[in-house]
Amino acid sequence: MIHMMIGFFKDYFKYKKPAKKQQKWMEKYCTQKGYAINPNWMMATNLKSNLCEMEATFGKRYCPCFEPSGDTVLDKKMMCPCEFVEDEIAEYGTCHCALFGPADLSKEQWKASSQRLMDEYQVPKNLKNGILDTRNMPLDPRRNLPIPDMMHQVKSVLNAYKGKMLTVVVEREQEALNLEKIAAYRGFKSSYEAKENCIEVKLIL
Ligand code: SF4
Repeated sequence: MIHMMIGFFKDYFKYKKPAKKQQKWMEKYCTQKGYAINPNWMMATNLKSNLCEMEATFGKRYCPCFEPSGDTVLDKKMMCPCEFVEDEIAEYGTCHCALFGPADLSKEQWKASSQRLMDEYQVPKNLKNGILDTRNMPLDPRRNLPIPDMMHQVKSVLNAYKGKMLTVVVEREQEALNLEKIAAYRGFKSSYEAKENCIEVKLIL
């Protein structure tokens, strides 16, 4: 928990300025659609920082909860605000990431959807002897992408990781390419190698 909080505040200060730009379009979008931004300051701030990081890392404002899939049609649908908002509001009360919900959503409903999201992402990671295996996570039914995805698993592990090298096992080449971009953005060296049933990405931290 302490590592998560340190990570949160680091991102908060790092993205304080660009987050204001996110806030502007989000407010406009909410006015147009009759939505509201998650009233929990930490949740909304974290999601705004993540949006800033997605833009800085991948060049586009992808959903803060899913790394790019490599499928151009799906990736376009995943630009925030994504094409799944209404459908997900009908199911969860908010969009998947609990960033947007109807303006009249109760505090309890915001809380319940935020908790659903945290339960999805705060799962045990498969980390052993400096090897993080990111495969075999459940798939989101709309995007057919893992929850948590490789990117969120790596970020969560790095918050508390003390080693100098991390090997990340991924299933698809797109994940290895994404991790190369994440590594470059964070100033790490990286290389990847295809194995029989997976791809291994080495990060020098
Ligand atoms: S789920 Fe919410 S935060 Fe994620 S892209 Fe869609 S609208 Fe944006």
